[in-house]
Amino acid sequence: MYGITISSSFGPMPETVDRLFIHCKELVPLMDGPPCGARRGEAMRSVDVIEDGAIAVRDGRVVAIGTTSEISAAYDANDVLDLTDTVVIPGFVDCHTHPAFAATREEEFHLRCAGADYMEIASKGGGILSSVRAVRAIGEDALTERVLLHFDKFIAHGTTTIEAKSGYGLDTASEVKSLRALTRAMAEHPLTVSRTFLGAHEVPMEYRERRDDYVDLVIDEMLPAVDRLCESCDVFAEPKVFDAVRSERILSAAKVRGLRLRVHADEIEPMGGAELAVALGADSADHLAVVSEAGIAALAGSETTAVLLPGTSFYLGKHRHAPARKMLEAGCAVALASDFNPGSCYTMSMPLIVSLACVLLHMTPAECLCATTINPAASLGLDAEVGTLHPGKRADFVALDLPSWKGLGYVFGGNPVLMTVKDGEVFGV
Ligand SMILES: [Zn+2]
Repeated sequence: MYGITISSSFGPMPETVDRLFIHCKELVPLMDGPPCGARRGEAMRSVDVIEDGAIAVRDGRVVAIGTTSEISAAYDANDVLDLTDTVVIPGFVDCHTHPAFAATREEEFHLRCAGADYMEIASKGGGILSSVRAVRAIGEDALTERVLLHFDKFIAHGTTTIEAKSGYGLDTASEVKSLRALTRAMAEHPLTVSRTFLGAHEVPMEYRERRDDYVDLVIDEMLPAVDRLCESCDVFAEPKVFDAVRSERILSAAKVRGLRLRVHADEIEPMGGAELAVALGADSADHLAVVSEAGIAALAGSETTAVLLPGTSFYLGKHRHAPARKMLEAGCAVALASDFNPGSCYTMSMPLIVSLACVLLHMTPAECLCATTINPAASLGLDAEVGTLHPGKRADFVALDLPSWKGLGYVFGGNPVLMTVKDGEVFGV
């Protein structure tokens, strides 16, 4: 048993906690490594399994974990939940999402199904720019309601922590509105959220002929307006969107303001985005479908997490996926995320992302466990709080309808989540 042992002068007495979760068919707490820090290489392949596992929870935190007989002997609670026939793992941490949008884009999906290319749709004013029109038109209250609906669905899919970006406003007022909507939704919802300003998601139509003026606007007007509404700043670093010079200008200015950095890097055309992220000390370089050998080496020698988004390359029908095996073998800290957004990846299901990572990126289910929990938590600086079930951390975990933990990835297409527990509170079932 891992936890605090209580005894008194009358001998050991059960300690009272708020809630006990018992009889997990398999409990996988990811406690065979340190509680904090991203795991790499061999450390991502080690999985600790407690059969007939149990968790004691108080004040929203893990007090102890062990077998059901160990925990039942040491702890008492009025509320005891039986998790027979479930596999319990830490709550998913989804470190790349775009939930601050106002309208879905299924019409565009129909065009893509009929053969249109994503970039071709974008060049005709569709894509991100259609989401921009919708966010500029919606009120802050309505956008907050929309974000709350998205937050509910993350919980329903077993995700207990997300990173959430703005980036469909692309003017100061609309970016502030997006981050305020995220902030208000966070205050009303149990989900743990790390907010990211993505004013440099795309160049809006009115600045297409004067891109440097838009970069100036992001740096001189938007960053001062949003830096207290977010933890991080991100840039869509692509040669035809924000090239290396413009990306570096924005990210450096954000860093000076005390923001953490994340980078959409090397998704479509190689540009040294991974190298740029490492050079700036970013928490993550995301996408990486066309990352260079030098980029992989730079990531491997750094604290910058490689965040892979197989849902996006799948959903866009791409045949080129991030070279995950090369990155894993090189020793990069690898995380997986959904990239939930209305255009290029409409899913918030991390179990589905795991299936795609196994099949398309050739990652193992064990590697995927780390890549959807402790590694993304570390990339957000939240690893002392979430990502594993070490005593003292938040009681965030998910009970899955799987034959064993090895069924993660193998079972796909439905939602295997039977129950999500967030800060010790039960959602679902
Ligand atoms: Zn993205």
